[in-house]
Amino acid sequence: MIYLDNAASTQVHEEVFQEMLPYFREQYGNPSSIHRYGRLASKAVETARKRIAEMINAKPHEILLTSGGTESNNTALFGVMRQSKAKQLITSHIEHDAILEPCRRLEKEGFDVIYLPVNSYGLVDIENLNRSITKETALVSVMFANNEVGTIQPIKEIAQICKQHSVLFHTDAIQAVGKIPIDVKDLGVDLLSISSHKINGPKGIGALYIRDGAALDPFILGGGQENGMRSGTENVANIVGFGKACILAKEHLGKNASHMKSLRDHLTSRIVSEISHVSVNGNVENKTPNNAHFTFLGVNGEDLIIKLDEYGVAASTGSACSVKTQKASHVLMAMGFSHEQITGSLRITVGLYNTMQEMDQTVDILKKTVQELRSVSPFKTKYGF
Ligand SMILES: *Cc1c(COP(=O)(O)O)cnc(C)c1O
Repeated sequence: MIYLDNAASTQVHEEVFQEMLPYFREQYGNPSSIHRYGRLASKAVETARKRIAEMINAKPHEILLTSGGTESNNTALFGVMRQSKAKQLITSHIEHDAILEPCRRLEKEGFDVIYLPVNSYGLVDIENLNRSITKETALVSVMFANNEVGTIQPIKEIAQICKQHSVLFHTDAIQAVGKIPIDVKDLGVDLLSISSHKINGPKGIGALYIRDGAALDPFILGGGQENGMRSGTENVANIVGFGKACILAKEHLGKNASHMKSLRDHLTSRIVSEISHVSVNGNVENKTPNNAHFTFLGVNGEDLIIKLDEYGVAASTGSACSVKTQKASHVLMAMGFSHEQITGSLRITVGLYNTMQEMDQTVDILKKTVQELRSVSPFKTKYGF
């Protein structure tokens, strides 16, 4: 099998796995306990927090540990809006469901949510954002990099506009971490979500960066862990693994990004030159180095995924979360794609463990698969396959 769905999840690094192991059977204390077991667990959590902070140039106390990217996003949105006098939130049409669903809930609770449109590359218009902010705006949330097409937003510019209007700015940076450098101080963001399992760490752990001085309502109440912001006994092993994944991601960022980019570029150029009626989607000039997104006209993406799986290639039509509900990609719709273009789309996201040989094998398999599907396609005569 060739795994090319690294935007959905990644393999845990061997080094991360090894570092986690002692926290299951030997150092299993509760970080809140006073005895040695507790102190060791607490120390492990704080070391990991420091490592997570260092990856994005934050201070350790600005890192809130959560159960993952989804919880980080929920904490940011509900945490800001529910304690704010201003009742408006501005976001974009192409956010992950972990932003859009909390937005829909906030609308039900009486908040006003504005969804910014994007252009055909998936970019929000900065001027439009600037005009949309009013006295009623409490928070802007725009994702750093899109999970379907990889488009990178001008986060620093957006943060500047928000600062000028004294509005808090949150960004879902889950697809950006480990792919492009992130420095929260330089960017000027107030809140930033990250997730461990997208950067070769364990699942079910993530963090929300909360800039010093940004006030949020706590989301989960109980024993007062995480400075009262998120109660519940810390997931020590996962936190340790996440910390290690962050060190590795920071240390090897340049090397990793160029490895992924060279695989992605080779794959893309072969596909474009060897398969007809294909388009490359997203902002090709400025997208995450691991993302390749295509439309194969006359092919059903779901059929393509299933056939590729049979031939040993794991890919995706886009967001793993919406595949099961069978709804058309809201991201591609917002980018103005036709129904037919959306149907024919395929997302390939490479990772650290992929090789050039796998790229060549994938193109060969893809050529065969697309040809098979097109030979029985209702669009066969329209395009002359
Ligand atoms: C994966 C992902 C999430 C959800 O993160 P989890 O840790 O899986 O909850 C949110 N936003 C984006 C952009 C993602 O890619």
